Amino acid sequence: KLNSHPSGRHFLQIPGPTNVPDRILRAMDYPTIDHRGPEFQQLGKKILGQIGKIFQTEQPVVIYPASGTGAWEAALVNTLSPGDTVLMYETGHFATLWKKMADKLSLKSEFLGDDWRRGVDAAKIEARLRADSGHVIKAVAVVHNETSTGVTSDIAAVRRAIDAAGHPALLLVDTISSLGSLDYRHDEWGVDVTVAGSQKGLMLPPGLSFNAVSQKAIAASKTAKLARAFWAWDEIIEANKNGFWPYTPATNLLYGLSEACDMLLEEGMQNVFARHQRHAEATRQCVRAWGLEILCQNEAEYSGALTAVVMPVGAGGERCNADALRKVILANFNMSLGQGLNKLSGWVFRIGHLGDFNDLTLMGTLAGVEMGLVLAGVPHKAGGVAAAMQSLQQSAVAVAAQP
Ligand code: PLP
Repeated sequence: KLNSHPSGRHFLQIPGPTNVPDRILRAMDYPTIDHRGPEFQQLGKKILGQIGKIFQTEQPVVIYPASGTGAWEAALVNTLSPGDTVLMYETGHFATLWKKMADKLSLKSEFLGDDWRRGVDAAKIEARLRADSGHVIKAVAVVHNETSTGVTSDIAAVRRAIDAAGHPALLLVDTISSLGSLDYRHDEWGVDVTVAGSQKGLMLPPGLSFNAVSQKAIAASKTAKLARAFWAWDEIIEANKNGFWPYTPATNLLYGLSEACDMLLEEGMQNVFARHQRHAEATRQCVRAWGLEILCQNEAEYSGALTAVVMPVGAGGERCNADALRKVILANFNMSLGQGLNKLSGWVFRIGHLGDFNDLTLMGTLAGVEMGLVLAGVPHKAGGVAAAMQSLQQSAVAVAAQP
């Protein structure tokens, strides 16, 4: 029987939306102000002054009142024309959705790769671009952190591949589940459009999304012919010069974004990245100690934001079902874990360890999974939680206690 009034807090350990910290909730809990007035202008200017630091860019960052899907569309419609070819890479469910969107927008998409357990092979991109001597391909679009699989791709290597082929294609990157969690460098990696969302590493509720844009992308937007109105960068970038938006912005989410930027920058982006990697490593130690398999097959591509765990085969010779396990964990421990998406349905569950997260959040999360494995009768070895604790102790950065 489901406990409809569970005590304690809900553990929202899906790989986004993530737990919204109290500091951000409090920051949003204010009356909505005049979005054309001086108080808003101050807020707008503050956020637009800070947000580039999160993307590691000096270039404009366009903020939309939309989910990540909107920012995907914005990246395509601002830079491309009907019939343009976009080279994409099948790393998982989200790469597949972005490809479907490109097709719906009357682009010609081409998919490389088909391995949902590995990231982008930059050599394949280089070979394909070298073969495209007529420069029919106008953009390369890849997902930095595949939220469906827990596999990251090496974006700097994709940049090198495009350069090595001497190809002028734009580079579009989805960082919806990596921005604010994993090291991501829009300028240094020569990315033309970075797509991001509010509800993961930025620790905000869903509802904001982003396009960080390069000068080359802005130049492309001047001649791109796909129809666009709401998503058009030019009017937004123009209005942003004075701290405003050309339409009613999501004022209260922007209060939250301002606080999120403060929190991330106070912690220091390098510390944020190190924290995520440390929790990801402890999670993997835990999964290995359970004797379960991590979906990602290349250690260099392990995600620092989430871990997808493959369900084992039970005593009857049938693979245990991930959704049955997730249901047991939700009912008994008030914790939500990510489901297997698309062809991974029932086969994997995903542990989100990103956003507002610390050692004890991780230990609570992993304890909930271990207790759930027992209750659901999923074959595993005991001791995962202990292995994670040991990993955290070994990698702990000692903090002096207050006298
Ligand atoms: N891309 C990635 C990598 C995602 O993880 C998601 C959502 O989880 C999306 C795109 C779609 O974003 P949204 O659901 O905010 O529209």
